Amino acid sequence: MKRDFGWTDIKVPVVGQGTWKMGREGLEALRLGIELGLSHIDTAEMYTGSEEVVAEAIRGRRNEIFLVSKVVPSNASYKGTLRACDASLKRLKTDYLDVYLLHWWSGSEPIAETMRAMEELVAAGKIRHIGVSNLDVSHLKQAQKALTRSRIVCNQVLYHLRSRGIEHGLVPYCESQDIAVVGYSPFGQGDFPPANSKQGKALEKIASRHGKTPRQVALNFLTRRKSLFTIPKSSRPEHVRENAGATNWKLDDEDLKLIDTAFPPPAKDEPLDMF
Ligand code: NAP
Repeated sequence: MKRDFGWTDIKVPVVGQGTWKMGREGLEALRLGIELGLSHIDTAEMYTGSEEVVAEAIRGRRNEIFLVSKVVPSNASYKGTLRACDASLKRLKTDYLDVYLLHWWSGSEPIAETMRAMEELVAAGKIRHIGVSNLDVSHLKQAQKALTRSRIVCNQVLYHLRSRGIEHGLVPYCESQDIAVVGYSPFGQGDFPPANSKQGKALEKIASRHGKTPRQVALNFLTRRKSLFTIPKSSRPEHVRENAGATNWKLDDEDLKLIDTAFPPPAKDEPLDMF
């Protein structure tokens, strides 16, 4: 299933593929994911070796891929951002990124410098859109303000069933601005509720009603709103197949109530969690 990415009219699969800690063992899975429509691929200069694997996976089919990479804050000076982007393009063997993100806010380089470089990259055709990651609403507003002629298209943030803090303030704010919210670590980085736990049993109950699996229920839930996308990482073809089956069906009100009971969202706004 695809939807408009933020305020753009680019149709992007709601379930994509992450590549953190992915080496060559993930190549077959990545390629299979693309075949199955998981063509939104997330990487970063920080994920040593992953951009090279992505380059191999997308070779010959770049125009089918929605490709995202990130600059680390320590490289995010004006010149550093330009250099980092060129290096990512080289490793990815492509001449453009669909979105380029500031990986997180550290304050080590002035945001105005990072965003000035981002706008230059757009003007040069090296990136189509500018995004951010791990920014709370206040930093997101500051990043947007630093741009003179562009709009931030997405904010990539931690979002899984046991970490629902963004639902209070960040998601509604992003929706009000038509900013896509790309949830990372949808399986809690391997910390998915075991089948015999209370939470695992709740997911199993919902899954069996739909003929789906607990992980498919989780991914479906994490993409249930119009702003939401998710990027599970998997290096195993059988897992990629499972993840690809997470969309094109709908959780009903009873399912959503069961999820809220098993995975209660925090009662009020919380500081943004990070990986
Ligand atoms: P994740 O996707 O929550 O979990 C990955 C783990 O889940 C892997 O151990 C994977 O194992 C397993 N898995 C995936 N699908 C499965 C399935 N169907 N059944 C069983 N196990 C399954 O963790 P993540 O890698 O942290 O997050 C996803 C992506 O988000 C990253 O790869 C990265 O691209 C992005 N990210 C961004 C930030 C940021 O700061 N912007 C931070 C963290 C992550 P197998 O490989 O064996 O399938």
